[in-house]
Amino acid sequence: MKNIFADRMQATRKSFIREILKVTQQPEVISFAGGLPNPGLFPVEEIMSAASKVLSEEGRSVLQYSTTEGYLPLREFIAQRYLKKSGLNIDPDEILITNGSQQSLDLIGKVFLNKGDRVVMEKPGYLGAIQAFSIFEAEFEAVPLLEDGIDAGSLDRILDGNSAKLFYTVSTFQNPSGITYSAQKRKDVAAILKKHNVICVEDNAYGELRFAGEDLPTIRNYSDYTILMGSFSKIIAPGLRMGWICARKEIMEKLIVAKQAADLHSNYLSQRIIHQYLLDNDLDGHIAKIKDAYGKRRDLMVSMMAEHFPESVRYTKPEGGMFLWVTLPEGVSSLELFELAIEENVAFVPGDPFYTDDNSGSNTLRLNFSNSDNEQIEEGIKRLAVCLERLMGNVRRANAQHGP
Ligand code: PMP
Repeated sequence: MKNIFADRMQATRKSFIREILKVTQQPEVISFAGGLPNPGLFPVEEIMSAASKVLSEEGRSVLQYSTTEGYLPLREFIAQRYLKKSGLNIDPDEILITNGSQQSLDLIGKVFLNKGDRVVMEKPGYLGAIQAFSIFEAEFEAVPLLEDGIDAGSLDRILDGNSAKLFYTVSTFQNPSGITYSAQKRKDVAAILKKHNVICVEDNAYGELRFAGEDLPTIRNYSDYTILMGSFSKIIAPGLRMGWICARKEIMEKLIVAKQAADLHSNYLSQRIIHQYLLDNDLDGHIAKIKDAYGKRRDLMVSMMAEHFPESVRYTKPEGGMFLWVTLPEGVSSLELFELAIEENVAFVPGDPFYTDDNSGSNTLRLNFSNSDNEQIEEGIKRLAVCLERLMGNVRRANAQHGP
C-alpha cells in the first residue's frame, strides 16, 4: 500500500513511556515508571473554589475566546515571580502561555527547525523533547551529562565541528537523571552557546521543587539568548495543561504566529482558574508541602537502595524534582531487569528511550519517587533488589562460562 503518511511521522517514535504506563496501571503493580506528580498533593478544594469564583462572577467572559498570548494578569504574575525568585527582569510581553510545556516544545520546533537541522540534546535526555523535535525531522547530537551538568568541553567541540540550531537542556533536576547543573557549568554553557551563536532552550519544569541544597541562577540569568520554559504541571496540577515560554520579542512574534495556527490560544478557563487560585492562595506554602513530601520519598528510596542494591549499582541523589537515575554494571541490561521486575509487579523505565543514539544506556534506568507511598517504595526497592541479584548472578555465570 502506498505510504499515506507524512515523512515526519516515520522519524518519530511512539512514546515508550506511554506504552509502559499501559502495562503498569494495574493496581497490583508498584510503579516507579511514570513521571506523575503525587495526586494527594493536588489542591483540589482550592481549585474548586477558584473555578466556582471565576465562573459565578465572570462566567460569560471566561468561556469566551481570548488572546493568543494568554491572560495578561497571569503573565504578569509569572514575570513578577521570575523577578522575585531568580532576579530576572522579564516583560510580560515576553511570556506566552501554552498548553503545558510539551506544547512549548512543539512550538519551538515549528519556529526553528527545518528538516535535518541539528539539535544538541543531553545524554540521556528528556524523551518528550526527543519526540517533539523528531516531528520536525531534526538531527540529534547528544552530549553526555556529568555529575555537575553537561560535558562542556564536549559541547564546545561538537559545536566547533558543526553548528546547531538549538541546545535543549533540563538544567535543574533533569528528567530523566535528576542531575542539576552547577552555577559554573551554567555560566560555561551560556558562554559556549554565545560563542557558537546557538540558542539555549532551558526547560525548567522542575526548578521550583528543590528539597535540598541552594537555589541556583538559571542559564537565562547568564544569557538572554535563552528561551526559558516553565510549567504549572509540577507545582499545581498537570491536568490543567498550563505552561509558558519566555523569549525575546523577535522570537515571541514567531511563536505567537505558530501558536495561533496551532490552537488560537490556550484554554482560557484554565488560565483564569489558575490565576484566581494564585490570587487566593499562598503558592510558596503549597510548593513547600510538595518539596517536603518528595524530599522524604527520595530519602527513603536512596536509603533502601543503599541497604538492598548490590554495591556495584550506582545512582544519582537528586536535590529536587521527581526522578533518580540508576546505572547498572556494564553488560547488565535494564530491559532484562524490566522483564524480571514486571513479573514481580514492579515497574520502572529502562534507559534506552532517553538516548538518541541506538547503542547507549542499555545498563541504565529511571526511577520516579514522587508518586509512591513509603510502603510501596520499601517493598518495590526490595523486589527490585532481588531481581537485580538474580540478573547479575546470571550475567556472572554466563561470563564465567564464555568469558566476558
Ligand atoms: N519538560 C519536562 C522536562 C518534563 O519532564 C515534562 C513532563 N514530564 C514536560 C516538559 C511536559 O510537562 P507539561 O506539558 O505538563 O508542562
